[in-house]
Amino acid sequence: MHEFSLAQSVQETVISIAKKQGAKEIKKVILKFGTFALIEEDQFRFCFDILQKESELLEQTELEIIWISGVLKCQQCSFEGKIEDIPQKHTELAPVFRCPKCQSYATDIISGTEATIDSIVIN
Ligand SMILES: [Zn+2]
Repeated sequence: MHEFSLAQSVQETVISIAKKQGAKEIKKVILKFGTFALIEEDQFRFCFDILQKESELLEQTELEIIWISGVLKCQQCSFEGKIEDIPQKHTELAPVFRCPKCQSYATDIISGTEATIDSIVIN
């Protein structure tokens, strides 16, 4: 239920920003998710959709998600680069990604685990 708690925190944050600005509605929310953040877009949208109905401010909000490619560094072969889609294993707390070059799991994530609000458009 990683997606639901994330959707909830996005909901709370954008509503509090909109209220501070005295907005009547939130037209658009743009989010930036790293590909290593292990967020399922469909599931996230499904959760956010439910939460949208709880607030008038969010009823008509368009949700845009920008995906940022994760960057991986391998300890074995020193590969470093963007990873689009690779076989992976992970636990709840620590995603582990395989090096695309030597298949080692001894990799460090340089970037790509972010899940942030990029901007919101209010009215
Ligand atoms: Zn490697």
